[in-house]
Amino acid sequence: MADIKRIDFCIECRKDTEYILKKIMQKRTVKDKEYEYETLAAYCSKCGNEMNVPGLLDYALKAFDEQYRRQEDIISIDDIKKLMDLYHLGKAPLSLALGFGEITVTRYLEGQMPTKAYSDIMKEALSSPGYMEELLIANAEKLGNSTYKKSMKAVSNLKDLFNISDEMRMAIAHVFNEVQEITPLALQKMLYFIQGIHLALFNEELFKEDCRAWIHGPAYREIYNIFKDFKYNPIEDNRFSLFTVRNKELSPDGKKVIGLVSDCFGIYSGKVLESVTHKEKPWRDARIGLNETEPSNRIIPKAIMKAYFKDMAMHYDIDTEEGLSQYIRDKAGFTEVR
Ligand SMILES: [Zn+2]
Repeated sequence: MADIKRIDFCIECRKDTEYILKKIMQKRTVKDKEYEYETLAAYCSKCGNEMNVPGLLDYALKAFDEQYRRQEDIISIDDIKKLMDLYHLGKAPLSLALGFGEITVTRYLEGQMPTKAYSDIMKEALSSPGYMEELLIANAEKLGNSTYKKSMKAVSNLKDLFNISDEMRMAIAHVFNEVQEITPLALQKMLYFIQGIHLALFNEELFKEDCRAWIHGPAYREIYNIFKDFKYNPIEDNRFSLFTVRNKELSPDGKKVIGLVSDCFGIYSGKVLESVTHKEKPWRDARIGLNETEPSNRIIPKAIMKAYFKDMAMHYDIDTEEGLSQYIRDKAGFTEVR
């Protein structure tokens, strides 16, 4: 860790000295519960005495606040801002729409800690436009007509956009966790591989959506719609939060496959993954009779994907990193990877 060097008055040395900031763990007890969090402390570089330096207290407070929210599953201030942005509501209208007092959200944005119950309402609203819609309808008369309409419009757009299964949402959220940066093109191919390998290993689909044999390889129409404005850039957006499904988890099998595919395929660009799928039977067969640039919405049947990846499993250990990595190296035409 690179320590930042600064100058301040050391009471031991009785003069201005250079000090070093170090990460330290601190504990704080609230209502008989202990919270351990990482913060910074300043030490004199001459005598080693711990120094009182401006700004450190604020830093510690913020670090504790974050740790407390993590441990107690309380919504972050950033996520409350996302809520305003997603549903096109200012602080006061959002507060009213959620069924809170008019200035409650304003206080939260200033740092006040929400109760667990209020935090749960906000978290649910953040991951579910349908839930937000219920809240808006229930609190409609507290909101101005134009505010209400504007927010309902945002809800309906998000509902159209996120018309995907919970399993697909959780799968994408898990891919985002595993892979640092991902473009829409790469995400599409990863979902295809995840579904195919899941079908081959466990004889059942991970999510119900059907894959299409598009020009640039297998693609999910629903996912295209969600991410089309990102084009070839890495995905980064407030709408990320809508992939979180509260109180529901992916199966261990699903997590295992996503982990494997992310580790082995996630290092390749969308273009490389596309070229691999172009060599595979499911996409090729679905496009028989079409030329290279001919658009198509033909479905790649799950049964065909399953058969293909089961056959692949005869030649490669697809439930191991080594086997999957070897497969993609062979298909991408890389004999050596360093
Ligand atoms: Zn000193």
